[in-house]
Amino acid sequence: MKLYSPATVKQIIDKYKFHFQKNLGQNFLIDGNIINKIVKSANINNQDVVLEIGPGIGTLTCALADKAAKVIVIELDKNLVVILKETLAGYNNIEVISGDALKTNFDEIVSAKTDGQYGLGAKSYKVVANLPYYITTPLIMHAMESHFNIDLMVFMIQKEVAARMVAPPGSKDYGALTLGVGYYSEPQLVARVPKKVFMPQPEVESTVVRLKILDNPPVPVEREEVFFQVVRAAFGQRRKTLINALTGGMEELDKSQIGQALAELGIDPGRRGETLSFQEFAAIANIISRNKAKE
Ligand code: SAM
Repeated sequence: MKLYSPATVKQIIDKYKFHFQKNLGQNFLIDGNIINKIVKSANINNQDVVLEIGPGIGTLTCALADKAAKVIVIELDKNLVVILKETLAGYNNIEVISGDALKTNFDEIVSAKTDGQYGLGAKSYKVVANLPYYITTPLIMHAMESHFNIDLMVFMIQKEVAARMVAPPGSKDYGALTLGVGYYSEPQLVARVPKKVFMPQPEVESTVVRLKILDNPPVPVEREEVFFQVVRAAFGQRRKTLINALTGGMEELDKSQIGQALAELGIDPGRRGETLSFQEFAAIANIISRNKAKE
């Protein structure tokens, strides 16, 4: 049974009297080509464990389970968990978990469902999803900030959010998300996706992105929390000069300390934060970390 055919999706939702919940970002895939593209870009082989967020009625799940050793899915909507019992019945390599992905420790779930073979510092796994758009940024930051043992993430997300992930310094899309994603991963845009491949159609266009998780940030960062403090301060007040934005956003430092750090690095304090490269953010954070350590 091809779950992605619009007639099949309709048949299933009619049978279960399922109502799409907009607030849960429920837009199901109905296009086999896009599903193949997602699976292919995750480069799945028969040794892989895949964690899928929000399986819906299991369309992408089946395509993943055809290639992977094991697929673990986390679904928030209990009505869909009931439907998945039927649609995934033919597979013995899928585990369905009823819960909220934002509150889930992925390593623990993967480890528990693979008898400790994966997760918690052992082998790593892949995370794949047609994400509910209302949780895109929190979900990605949850996965990355927790330092879960993930190897690769492939997500369908809103086109505008994808653009922010790969934006160059100085562009309007460049911001805290660009630096956050770039700190933990190497992002790559895989495909633009039109609205018509979803049921119901969302209001926005979509993009498939591939985030290869890095072992270390692209340049050395001495203290992660200071790096993100500097980034947040710089973008918290985008219109201010760098020195004023950092002074306003980093309460424990005064203007002269920040001015001294920028002078040491030869960075013009009158620049806007949004023009700084990843390397420059890291250099500022590292000087501030060292100065803090001396205090
Ligand atoms: N994967 C399916 C597909 O491609 O057809 C459905 C994708 S749909 C965009 C998003 C799915 O995520 C829905 O099934 C929704 O119920 C589920 N979901 C929403 N919020 C969630 C959360 N916090 N944790 C887990 N699943 C969630």
